[in-house]
Amino acid sequence: MGMTQLVHGNSELRLAMNGLGSNICLVPTMGALHEGHLSLIKACQKECDICIVSIFVNPTQFNQKDDLEKYPRQITKDQALIQKECDYLFLPSVSQIYPKVLDTNVDLDISHLTASMEGPNRPGHFDGVVQVLKRFIDILEPDYIYMGQKDFQQFSIVDYMLKKLNLKTSLRVCPTIREADGLAMSSRNLRLEPAIRRSASIIFKALSYAKEKLGKVKPGKIEAKAIEMMSIKHFEPEYFEIVDGCSMERIKDPEAHDLIVACTASWAGKIRLIDNLILKGEAELFAE
Ligand code: AMP
Repeated sequence: MGMTQLVHGNSELRLAMNGLGSNICLVPTMGALHEGHLSLIKACQKECDICIVSIFVNPTQFNQKDDLEKYPRQITKDQALIQKECDYLFLPSVSQIYPKVLDTNVDLDISHLTASMEGPNRPGHFDGVVQVLKRFIDILEPDYIYMGQKDFQQFSIVDYMLKKLNLKTSLRVCPTIREADGLAMSSRNLRLEPAIRRSASIIFKALSYAKEKLGKVKPGKIEAKAIEMMSIKHFEPEYFEIVDGCSMERIKDPEAHDLIVACTASWAGKIRLIDNLILKGEAELFAE
């Protein structure tokens, strides 16, 4: 593997890729790269001829101006980190992804998958995710897209879009990479104050508690206890839901579902963190 080639323009990238191979894979990111992102790139390298990493802080998926403005941006550091890890680093501008002349909205009803969890708490977020992914697919025509389990509802919606719109791109999902204390790696962790960071392992502890109790205690009771566990100083849980991993609907009887996931979001000071843990079964789509 040589050095990563940096490309900004859509046509510049298509031209560079011309004739290079048939198996083109994309790892879409918003930058401030960490081990979680690197694990996607590694999985991608195993299966693909050409691995493209994109860094684009997509404005249409942010429902809070402050979160968009303060989202960590460290492109020089990112570039150094993946210098030899991928073939192309794609850094498009907002006007390239959303040219004024183009209607980039995607005509797709995702309401059944956005009725719970991140959906009501982040209005418009998943429309923005679908919109940006569709643009990347139109521009790059990847055979595979690699995403993390960390954003469970997100990858489920992206998979739905790929299938519903009959796109030729397939999704591969990679497991969540965690810090030593269990906190899921996230670009937003950079913004946590040290004291809050030290307490943030409570999220994984609550998820692990749910895994231990599933089948022994009613899901509703587990959820309530997990919320109680996470209600410590500086932390304000938004939701903790035990859902069917396909429908995203809360479950009552674990026996009646093959794939069960606990998903949670919590404010940690001014930073909103999300995480999830599979409690039962295995998600399809997982990369080797
Ligand atoms: P982001 O840059 O946060 O938009 O994330 C880009 C991709 O990396 C998404 O598919 C995320 O699900 C994935 N990702 C983020 N954090 C992790 C993690 N800790 N482990 C595995 N994948 C991750």
